[in-house]
Amino acid sequence: MNEDKLKKMIERMVRDAMAVNEANVKDPPIAGSADVRKPLHNFKMNINKEKMIAANWKMNMTTGEARVFAAKVKSMNIDRKEVVIFPPIYLAPMMINALAGSGIRIGAQNMHHEIRGAFTSEISPLMVKDAGCEFVILGHSERRHIFNEKDHDINLKVISAINHGIVPILCVGETLDQREQNATFRIIRNQLRLGLNGTTPRQSTSLVVAYEPVWAIGTGRTATPEQARNVHSFIRETLTQIYDYSTARDILILYGGSVTPENTESLIKEKDIDGFLVGGASLSPDKFKRIIELC
Ligand code: PEP
Repeated sequence: MNEDKLKKMIERMVRDAMAVNEANVKDPPIAGSADVRKPLHNFKMNINKEKMIAANWKMNMTTGEARVFAAKVKSMNIDRKEVVIFPPIYLAPMMINALAGSGIRIGAQNMHHEIRGAFTSEISPLMVKDAGCEFVILGHSERRHIFNEKDHDINLKVISAINHGIVPILCVGETLDQREQNATFRIIRNQLRLGLNGTTPRQSTSLVVAYEPVWAIGTGRTATPEQARNVHSFIRETLTQIYDYSTARDILILYGGSVTPENTESLIKEKDIDGFLVGGASLSPDKFKRIIELC
């Protein structure tokens, strides 16, 4: 049996097992979650801020470290900025308590598209919400390249997040090889078209896109303002083709890839850069605060 057939067979078995599980579950089904391909909700999340600064902590920080971080950033004036921290999921409830009243919101770094079932170690949209998360990062390059997530998987997650009232941050970005082969725009267009397949303009009011060139993540090598500007304006154009002009204009497009206090100012000046997804520098409360202040 070839690999493709085997994969399909396993997927079918898992689906069947899920159906049995679902039938035995007493909770009422959540509207819109049974079939992730058919969004039922058309809601608008409150992300009408001008800039967004998101901290992707990845697999870093323990409870004690996170508490110290929260205490240091809690009192800062975030004004018209949307600040969201994405800690490891188990820290989310503690962070929400520790940051109460600050206006800083909490998100999850990933999730499965199904609401429950036999998916060891995965976390569902219900659990993400239950933990108090309002956002979820989807399609991060580490998920794509280390854990082999495909555009189709990411698309299921995007739709599921929207259906459950969680704002997806859809990450897109090219590898160094792809950039050197002049394939950047083709890759970005495909990731957007496939990742957003089946979403409507109304739903996209609850969507954030992050451009994260893979060669810039965690490498200390940032895209130049010109490189970032070109891709961000291409993303805006592609979103206009997928939805329409006024929808595309309102979608926040973040830049991510070795953002530091030193390069924040030159990048944030660019017209289509609406904020940042920050990895390494977001682990330092002082650096993260400085990036927020400079936006
Ligand atoms: C990221 O992981 O999303 C990221 C942008 O990381 P870094 O800022 O460390 O490059």
